[in-house]
Amino acid sequence: MDFEKDTCSICGKYTDITAKVLNERETLYCMECQDKELKRMLDNFNQIKFYCIKCGSSNVTKSDPKTGISLTDIPNAIYANALITCKDCDHRFFVNMEDHGKIN
Ligand SMILES: [Zn+2]
Ligand SMILES: [Zn+2]
Repeated sequence: MDFEKDTCSICGKYTDITAKVLNERETLYCMECQDKELKRMLDNFNQIKFYCIKCGSSNVTKSDPKTGISLTDIPNAIYANALITCKDCDHRFFVNMEDHGKIN
């Protein structure tokens, strides 16, 4: 993959930019800051308590939670997703949260 050099919006280093994400405005991330941001959001995402939307049970498990940067949308957005399985009714749900940035 080809990275263009620019100034990372987070650490201020002039380095390879691996992602551009729209937050308040366009935010440029270097590899290190991108990894940190995705890890932090994954930690926060893992704190979220989900309920089954079919039967309302809180007896659910979250599997394969991950964060990433969606490269298909323009502008790119950070997302977190996971598969939720209800142990009471055996239904599965895919949840996807996308960062749409601050309200202007
Ligand atoms: Zn950086
Ligand atoms: Zn259920």
